[in-house]
Order: sequence, then C-alpha cells, then structure tokens
Amino acid sequence: MKFVLFWHRRDLRVHDNAGLTAALQSGYPVVPLFIYDREILDLLPSRRDARVTFIYDQVERLGQETQAAGGSFLAFYGRPLEVFEQLLSQHEVAAIYTNEDYEPYAAERDGAITALARQHGAEFHAFKDQVIFAKNELLGKSGKPARTFGSYRKAWLEKVQDVDLQPHPSAQLFRAENLRALPDAPARPTLADMGFERCEQFVPANELPTEALVRDYHKTRDRPGLVNSSTRRSVHLRFGTLSVRALMRQARELNPKLLAELVWRDYFMMLLWHYPGTATESFDPRLRQVPYRNNEDEFAAWCAGQTGYPLVDAGMRELNATGYMPNRARITAAGFLVKHLLIDWRWGDGYFADKLLDYDMSQNVGNWQWMAGTGVVAAPWFRVYSPQSQLESYDPDLAYVKQWVPEYGTAAYPAPIVDHKFARQRAIDTLRTAYRAES
Ligand SMILES: Cc1cc2nc3c(=O)[nH]c(=O)nc-3n(C[C@H](O)[C@H](O)[C@H](O)COP(=O)(O)OP(=O)(O)OC[C@H]3O[C@@H](n4cnc5c(N)ncnc54)[C@H](O)[C@@H]3O)c2cc1C
Repeated sequence: MKFVLFWHRRDLRVHDNAGLTAALQSGYPVVPLFIYDREILDLLPSRRDARVTFIYDQVERLGQETQAAGGSFLAFYGRPLEVFEQLLSQHEVAAIYTNEDYEPYAAERDGAITALARQHGAEFHAFKDQVIFAKNELLGKSGKPARTFGSYRKAWLEKVQDVDLQPHPSAQLFRAENLRALPDAPARPTLADMGFERCEQFVPANELPTEALVRDYHKTRDRPGLVNSSTRRSVHLRFGTLSVRALMRQARELNPKLLAELVWRDYFMMLLWHYPGTATESFDPRLRQVPYRNNEDEFAAWCAGQTGYPLVDAGMRELNATGYMPNRARITAAGFLVKHLLIDWRWGDGYFADKLLDYDMSQNVGNWQWMAGTGVVAAPWFRVYSPQSQLESYDPDLAYVKQWVPEYGTAAYPAPIVDHKFARQRAIDTLRTAYRAES
C-alpha cells in the first residue's frame, strides 16, 4: 500500500507544521522520518555536541508521539540521498513532503532528492514553515532584496495578514487513520550508535514566553544581567520545536520591538537564500581584501574570555559554558574581534558555529557581516563600539560580569589585550585603506 514520507528537518514538532499538515491531507497515510545527516555530523569538531543531544531528544519525543498516535517514526544515521534511495526502492512511496530549508547545502541536497524521487515516480513537496515571507515574496522596488532593515520591516508589516500567522492543523490531523504503522520499521539509532556522547545542558522551556516578559521585552532585552531579560527561544526557533507563527502572533499583539527582532530573522534567512555566497565571503566587494591581522594568540584569548574587557569575556565564557550568549554580549564580543583585534569575521563566525546551541547559518553570517560592516545589510565599517561604554550602558551594576567573570576587579583578571583608543584608530585606518583601494 502506498504512503507518503514526511521528512522533519528544522521543524521538530507535530503541532502547527505546514508541510506535515499537507502530508496528512494528501490522501495517503504518512510515515514521518528524520535523518541524522552524516554530511553534517561527520564535520563536527567534537563527539560531545549539545545540539546533537538536543536533536536526539526531540527525535525520540517525536518517535514516541507518533507511536502513541498509531504510526511509525523512522530515524536513520546516514546520507540523505542513500537513505532515500533505499526507502524509495523498498517501499511504494507516493511522495516526500517536507518544509523548506534556505541554507546553500540544503538547497543543493533538496535538488538531488527531488531528482531521485522523480526517478522512482515519487513527488517532492516542500512548504514554507520557518519564516513568514521567503525567497522572492518580499523584494524591494528594484526586484532585489531591500538593502536596509528599515525598508524591509516596513514592507513586511504592510504585507503581513492574519492568515500568514494562522496555525496549521497538523496536530488535529495527526491520528491513526492518517498515519501508517510499518511492521518492519527499524530501530532508531541511539546517540551511542552514532558515536556521540550525551551533553547535559540547560534548554529553556519549549513554550511561549510569559506575557509579562513579552510586555517588558523592549526594556529588558539589552540587560544581560537581568533574569529573563529576553525570550531565550532562539534554540526552539532554530530547530522548529516552537512555531515562529505562534511567537509572531504574541509579539504582534504585545510588543512591536520583539516583532521587529523576529522580522530580522526572516530578513536574514531571505538574504542568505538570495546570496548564498555570503556564507563564506564578504558581500561588499570593497571589503573583501581587508588585511586582517588574524593573530592566533589574541584569537585564543578572545575564545577563552581572557581579553581584559569584561563584557566580551563574560559573553564568551557564558557561550563556552552553556552554548548561549545574550544578544548584547554577542554584539560586543563580535565587534571587538573584527574591529579591535582585526580578526577576520569568518573566524568568529566559525567559533560561534561550533558553540552556539541556536547556531543558524543565516542569522550568524548575517549578524557577523553586519558587525564587520561587510554584509548585504551592515553597520558602517567605521563604527567601532567601545566595550567599556557598552558595559556601562548595559551592565551598569556588573550583574552579568560578576556572574561569569568572578575575578573581575582583582589582580587575577588580565589587563586589556589592546588599548581601545589605539585599536579603534587602527581599525578605522586599516578598513579605510582597504575600502578606498577597492572602491
Ligand atoms: C555576532 C552575532 C551572531 C549571532 N548568531 C545567531 C545565531 O547563530 N542564531 C540565532 O538564532 N541568532 C543569532 N544572533 C542573533 C541574536 O543574538 C539571538 O537570536 C538572540 O540573542 C537569541 O536570544 P533570545 O531568543 O533570547 O532573543 P530575543 O531577544 O528574545 O529575540 C527573539 C527572537 O528574535 C530573533 N532575533 C533576536 N535578535 C536577532 C538578531 N540580531 N538577528 C536575527 N534575529 C534576531 C531570534 O530568533 C530570537 O530568538 C546573533 C547575533 C550576533 C550579534
């Protein structure tokens, strides 16, 4: 008997899932699946990876939910093309359903799976689920993506309708009559089967933030020393354990500043889809030949949170310990790396990619290129934040610094590795020379 596959990727939930809804309404019973992709996992620097543990727990939860509803949930450790080749050869699969993924690797992979499915007489359907507007849905007047966030946000707010934020009824449709139980479903791989160790970590609740937090968000978001200063939902948006539409609805009702931050997320995802080359190269051709200093000792001090600038160090130490860093600390640490130390933004991007639990290529690259002044949308290259002023403005009582840099203020804390005034001038001179040479 024919069935359809629903391939979970960045949407590890049953509720409010666009592609899963379409699969459940296809007229065929559905078998959901997840692939632990060796193309990605084999490149990880460590076999103790917090994200792999997080994904594993979510996949196991999905497996249990599917079994409880009367279906089978498949999980494989392998390469997507090989996994699908096997599934399409062994079973009568009418179609593969999934949700769109806008990263360059994903676009290539999905193209290959579409072609493979066709060879087997199956269709491949991908749905928009993780953003509100994708690809070419919201371009500027020139027919290209807007080059300022202000104009993108204005167009986004004008375009969005209630229907764009409506939940999809996948949870209601997720019933035995719409699912297929496979008697010979293979056992799902464990972390140990895949050669990974479990990481114990703090993961914020997978539910909407409280109304009080959202109402005060614009006042608290830039104060990393406060408890609940921001939503901490980035990891759930990254893996789709929370629906972005639900968070958008809440933000639209209660706090325009939070809505604007979520619109940034849409914007960066659209930009990466349009400009996949920015994943590895500066968008602005005038800043592709910057003679970055790339001093390895200074990079190591930055990574370890030993720069002598407390807000930078607190952020980096929190990142190393937990896989999270508040936005204000990310801004300060990233600005310090690319401007004060004149280290290539790609080094910082790579370090964050290894450490962040919420790592998302589009958001990370977009923000790093913003800080470096090199992006499609970017802060002016000559803007150099003072890490001391950032500290005074955003952690005035040192609550955040005391939490992560307990030796601050004692002889044990290192002196600044570079003088701010000197480094600021050096950055401006270096970038100006590079900019003018290429203009
Ligand atoms: C150098 C640098 C690298 C970053 N890398 C990532 C990354 O890999 N993954 C990631 O999700 N975010 C990244 N961000 C954006 C931002 O710092 C995090 O989304 C935010 O800190 C997550 O915490 P939160 O959920 O409490 O955010 P909140 O302040 O509660 O915001 C709610 C949501 O809005 C979105 N958002 C908030 N700020 C931004 C922003 N600056 N850009 C885009 N979306 C935003 C996120 O989805 C976030 O979860 C980066 C920022 C910088 C400066």
